[in-house]
Amino acid sequence: AEPRLVVVRATRISPRLTLLVLRDITERERVEQMRRDFVANTSHELKTPVGAVSLLAEAIESAADDPDQVRNFASRLTAEAARLASLTARIMNLSRLQAADELTHDRDVAVDEIVAAAVEAHAIQAGSAGVEIVRGGERGLYVRGDAQILIEAVGNLLANAIHYSPRGSDIGVGVKADDRVVEIAIADRGIGIPEGDQERIFERFYRADQARSRRTGGTGLGLAIVKHAVQRHGGEVRLWSRPGRGSTFTIRLPQIDPPADQVPPPRRRK
Ligand code: ADP
Repeated sequence: AEPRLVVVRATRISPRLTLLVLRDITERERVEQMRRDFVANTSHELKTPVGAVSLLAEAIESAADDPDQVRNFASRLTAEAARLASLTARIMNLSRLQAADELTHDRDVAVDEIVAAAVEAHAIQAGSAGVEIVRGGERGLYVRGDAQILIEAVGNLLANAIHYSPRGSDIGVGVKADDRVVEIAIADRGIGIPEGDQERIFERFYRADQARSRRTGGTGLGLAIVKHAVQRHGGEVRLWSRPGRGSTFTIRLPQIDPPADQVPPPRRRK
């Protein structure tokens, strides 16, 4: 196996010198490590918005005489609270997906239903970002699973595609079946993902180009949720991307036959 180096400790010795302690860990150890890191990362990620919320609450108290200031702090407080709410919802979602129990709402799900719901949920975001979502491919395909979880997975990929695309560009959502595998591909012509980041972006809280991502206010959990959601359904996620050209994320799920009442009657011959 290739060596995997992790930073165990980073100590700043001088402004120009940082001492890194590295450890080489194997794949198995790495998974274990990630599990342990989850709690630590989660607490760390929550600390920032929680801190901001209490600071802003204090600021409102002390600015009580200045209505403009109060309004300003209050609207920032609302934004931080919303971010905290979405972060906690995503963390809970992810830990539910990782729990060992079975999917609870298992049924035959039309892929058309998944795609339609995910696209509809992102219509407003796409509109204000000036990008168009174009659907294509096969209709009438089915998979087995929890529709809500699958809609969220496709939705997270769509949200990212919109987020990282230039105004005026198209996002393609294509569906096809090949060898009893259903593929749902979300393709954008956005900023793309550097080769070195492509494996790691599926890890919790990992974000390519930290500074830029920070500013855009994501959580770094979207793709981890996608990966776990798809794995729970016996599938996998593939990624093709070139910086400056765009990215295509493909969700691959085991295909099932359409439910009996959904099979179109054979066309009568003349
Ligand atoms: P978030 O988007 O909240 O930061 P994600 O887990 O959804 O978290 O994505 C992780 C990182 O992967 C992002 O920060 C971004 O750097 C990169 N990324 C994801 N999707 C795309 C995309 N379609 N185009 C370019 N970069 C992407």
